[in-house]
Amino acid sequence: MIIVMQSEASPEKADAVVQRIEDMGLKAHVSRGEFRTIIGAIGDETLLKPEYFAGLAGVESVMPIMKPYKLASRDFHHEDSVVEVGPFRAGGDAVSVIAGPCSVESEDQVRTTARAVRDAGGTMLRGGAFKPRSSPYSFQGLGEDGLKILRDAAAEVGLPTVTEVLDVREVELVARYADVLQIGARNMQNFRLLTEVGQVERPVFLKRNPAATIEELLMSAEYVLSEGNHRVMLCERGIRGFDKSTRYLLDLAAVAVIRRDSHLPILVDPSHATGRRELVVPMALAAIAGGAHGVMVEVHPDPEKALSDGPQQLVPEAFRQMMAELGPIADAVGRTLQRAEI
Ligand code: PEP
Ligand code: MN
Repeated sequence: MIIVMQSEASPEKADAVVQRIEDMGLKAHVSRGEFRTIIGAIGDETLLKPEYFAGLAGVESVMPIMKPYKLASRDFHHEDSVVEVGPFRAGGDAVSVIAGPCSVESEDQVRTTARAVRDAGGTMLRGGAFKPRSSPYSFQGLGEDGLKILRDAAAEVGLPTVTEVLDVREVELVARYADVLQIGARNMQNFRLLTEVGQVERPVFLKRNPAATIEELLMSAEYVLSEGNHRVMLCERGIRGFDKSTRYLLDLAAVAVIRRDSHLPILVDPSHATGRRELVVPMALAAIAGGAHGVMVEVHPDPEKALSDGPQQLVPEAFRQMMAELGPIADAVGRTLQRAEI
């Protein structure tokens, strides 16, 4: 249920509504917008009746929310949410570019990539230290050593880091080194992991599972939000298709659906979606033209030798070219491509 306060209602009146929600054993989430405060009552809604709130001072309207997610919904928070990561913003009119290798492989590899990403204007450095691999015999990542390599290389160039946390047992460890916790596609519905990252002071980058509906993605975001972590960024990274020309099927319509139904930033990963480097740049441009708040792309100094996802990683020069092409597209749709300072 959502309780919309009158625009002139004092904070004390909002507090009284929160108190009433809590007295009924539910949680209250307060969203203070530019014009008015909206309060969400989270929990078993059958315990609530609109008339419990309609009579309280300062209440303008009371609406049951029919969607299965609430805090992630635009009904609850009308304006786009903006997630701050270091000096950068994700969401609203900002376009963010997260780039870096699929896997952290060596100090040299990550430092070279970090410099290339920063020099081209990328805003966050990515790289996996814990890798979710289909085969147990494939490279699984360098673990904590990889986290250190990523952190040090990023610090040298002044970029925040994004890296995947695979397991509840490693949330604390990854949060010690990384600025943003990535929940990979395979873990999108690992509800214990979502609950855990919901309790950590780090933004979460939540990737859509290739077999998940948009509603399921938003329900997963709700797990994180309902624990009190409001810094959630979503990522469309392709769903299962039937055509082998691309690794997955990039669902760009999901960007428009999510922007309509949710206030959370939505980024697009054209690297995993297409699986082929020559398709990455066109799909990155299309994503920004279509309203995405940014892209995540894989970049490797020598993709032929990459230990994972070689065929989809851009060489630094191609990444630089992509950044040059993204600027005018962002301008054309009234957005601002953020750029790291060199
Ligand atoms: C990744 O970004 O490193 C990754 C493994 O992607 P996904 O979870 O989307 O497959
Ligand atoms: Mn990868």
